[in-house]
Amino acid sequence: MNKHKIILLVFLISLSFVFSLPKFKIINNVTTIIDEDDNRKISINFPTTDIDKIDNKVKKHINTIYNKFINGSNEELNIDYKFNILNNKFISIVIISTIDENVTVKAFVFHKKTFKLLSLNDIIDKNNISNNFVEEVNKNGISVNLIYQNNNFYFDDNYLHIIFNTKQNNSFTDIPIDLEIIGIDKTITSTARKNIEFPYKVIDPTKKSIALTFDDGPTKYTKKIIQTLEKYDANATFFIIGNKVEIYKDTLLLMLKNGNEIGNHSYNHKWLTKLDDEEVIYQIKKTQNIIKEKLNYEPKIIRFPYGASNNKIKNLTTLEIVKWTLDPQDWHAKSSKYIANNIIDSVKDGDIIILHDSSKKTLDSLEIFIPKLISQGYNFVTVSELNKIVELRNT
Ligand code: ZN
Repeated sequence: MNKHKIILLVFLISLSFVFSLPKFKIINNVTTIIDEDDNRKISINFPTTDIDKIDNKVKKHINTIYNKFINGSNEELNIDYKFNILNNKFISIVIISTIDENVTVKAFVFHKKTFKLLSLNDIIDKNNISNNFVEEVNKNGISVNLIYQNNNFYFDDNYLHIIFNTKQNNSFTDIPIDLEIIGIDKTITSTARKNIEFPYKVIDPTKKSIALTFDDGPTKYTKKIIQTLEKYDANATFFIIGNKVEIYKDTLLLMLKNGNEIGNHSYNHKWLTKLDDEEVIYQIKKTQNIIKEKLNYEPKIIRFPYGASNNKIKNLTTLEIVKWTLDPQDWHAKSSKYIANNIIDSVKDGDIIILHDSSKKTLDSLEIFIPKLISQGYNFVTVSELNKIVELRNT
């Protein structure tokens, strides 16, 4: 009997990454605020630049929505966003706010050089509109006068979108107008490809192993977290929010290159048990698709926002649902030491630890507990690696 046989796990990470030009350099970060209690769930994601003229306008709007929610008696606030830079000239930021069932869309278009907030009249002179444009707008039963009055519009790479919030039926109207109709060039996206192969990873399954998981990212701290993990030859799993993939593409590529795992955490952190089947599937699929498209990687695991699940939504995904076995309460911790001690005091072999990369205290705690646990013989692996280790130990 060879009880001391060391089985080596070899993980071949051969991912080919797609590189394209950094189109969205001006957006530095996505601010994420996630909070919950028994009665209310709040998830806010919005892009921030370093340009006050832009950020202040967006934040002011978000504050208005937030106050409306706080002063009301609704259960869920979800703020999602879209952004685009068209032809290096127009910055579009769209804020999609959902309070329970009510959706409000507010769009901002800024000039990229002057950061001036543009009106529809700045884009299309009201006194000089084409018949084609009038036709497109009228098709939707809406008058041209009204759209100038509402002044709620944004660009993507191919369309000018004109938005109408229709409060009566809890939805909004989006009139897409082909850029050709208004004489604006479409953005040409780069298709430059570069393939990189990554080396083997060797893991000893007889060693005490734990899986660190980080929810709700990426954030401005994620890159530092990845670097800290690398310093200690540690890996972790990141359950990411789909709407942030594009802005944090470089961070996510580094995450994968270093051998970390990415899991699905829905597209905009909605309370999934409150949604109908179709919407739940959309939240999961949209996230899978954007990760595949931007990172050429397919998550195999999912963690539901707020940890909220039931049998119905469990049956809507084939991804492995990952919970946690240790919660050091980092999201309301008073210090990094508190987080680190919570982990050091109760961690055991095989634990899955839930953390959040939205907190500086969490980042700082890594420098305390990782070296300490390494000295106690622990290995830091991803969730899928931990599954594999457990499986091997049981055979
Ligand atoms: Zn979350």
